[in-house]
Amino acid sequence: MGALNTFPLSFKVKGKRIIIVGGGDEALNKVRLVSKTTASVEIYARHIDADFSAFPVRLKARPLRAADIAGAALVFVAEEGADAELAKTEARRLNIPLNVVDVPGECDFYTPSIVDRAPLVVAISTEGDAPVLARLVRAQIEALLAPGIGKIARLAGGLRQRVESLIQDGAARRRFYEDLLTRPEADAEALLAQHVANGAGSGVVWLIGAGPGSEDLLTLRAQRLLQQADVIVHDQLVPASVVEMGRRDAEQICVGKARGHHSFSQAQINALLVRLAGEGKKVVRLKSGDPLVFGRAGEEIAALRKAGLAYEIVPGVSAALAAAADTATPVTLRTVSSGIVMATAHGAEDSELSHWAALAGSGLTLALYMGKAIAAETAGRLLAHGAAPDLPLGIVVNAGRPDSTSYAGTLGDLAGGAVDFADGPAVILVGHAVAHGDWRNAANAAANTYKAA
Ligand code: SAH
Repeated sequence: MGALNTFPLSFKVKGKRIIIVGGGDEALNKVRLVSKTTASVEIYARHIDADFSAFPVRLKARPLRAADIAGAALVFVAEEGADAELAKTEARRLNIPLNVVDVPGECDFYTPSIVDRAPLVVAISTEGDAPVLARLVRAQIEALLAPGIGKIARLAGGLRQRVESLIQDGAARRRFYEDLLTRPEADAEALLAQHVANGAGSGVVWLIGAGPGSEDLLTLRAQRLLQQADVIVHDQLVPASVVEMGRRDAEQICVGKARGHHSFSQAQINALLVRLAGEGKKVVRLKSGDPLVFGRAGEEIAALRKAGLAYEIVPGVSAALAAAADTATPVTLRTVSSGIVMATAHGAEDSELSHWAALAGSGLTLALYMGKAIAAETAGRLLAHGAAPDLPLGIVVNAGRPDSTSYAGTLGDLAGGAVDFADGPAVILVGHAVAHGDWRNAANAAANTYKAA
């Protein structure tokens, strides 16, 4: 660690005055920062150029007087000229900390980048050397801290007396606060009741959609909860890079069907989740795409409900939407497609097939999951149930991932024969909206000419 030339501290400004000299954009930038505080902010400028109306500040459109500086907590100089010189002289004479915008040599202090979750505040400073770096780091911290975390911190303060009388054991109390502060989505009262009822710290299962398989298509909430999990129970379809975003010391359990590995039955997965959460663990159940779309989340939720365990659902980008994005296909489009049907190609019954065939023909987009291995057969069956052979069709393998590959053609093309798809999961999109996508890079979907783009 190098030696710091500045010392970060939290400086009390409540009830005090902060002076800003200048009426332009640089003054406005400082106002943005200091108006997050409860100090009274005064702006002195002969000309007010920027729009300060959004901020609770006192505008003094007149020359600065020496007496204005007396008693201020902080002085910012955000312009040049006589007023600026007077402010500097007075601040120095009265030992009031001074910041001169863009003149580090004249500054007593710098203003760090701030992540504001009052009363929680994170300040990031590079001692003025690399403001761009400070902003990048700030963005990462913003993502890590739930927007409501500050409110929860205040709430925890307000609950303190009740918690003390309701939960006597110190360790159990700490577990309650940990739970409260790491689950900003949860209702504090319900959480408290749950902790009082369960005695020991309560487990929870977060059913999380991991999206189609790229780390950056994970939601911020998913990322945050992954960081809090004791155990991550994931499917085979979730790439290791996404699972790795969890805490390093979290236990990882793959319950998917890996080649050559024993895979868990759904009943075993349900039992596993109930056991882990029952032990008081925070469990992430990580599923590809969205957990409520062909994710068998319904069965897991039912088991958790039956066991009286807490759970929450975090949505994810479902494969059909990732496929649409990869190919710029508007799955709904005025006068062309009035809706989208997400359906499984697998095990579809005749009645369902005839229904879809009619829907696709009448202007709904079909997104077929789990249909890659039976793609030609599925197309053939849709045709047999009345779908038009010239219905536009597209297939996206590894949607939302760097190795996304697409194929385009018509329903009739696909029905025609065996296809040599790229490795990976695939979504089949059928319907007139498909023709409005950008399938330029797609391979031709005519039978036997399917090739990776
Ligand atoms: N819950 C998931 C679907 C799980 S079922 C979701 O919402 O996306 C598994 C099926 O999802 C696969 O057979 C395939 O049809 C589809 N799928 C999952 N990930 C995919 C991806 N990256 N690209 C294309 N299809 C995908």
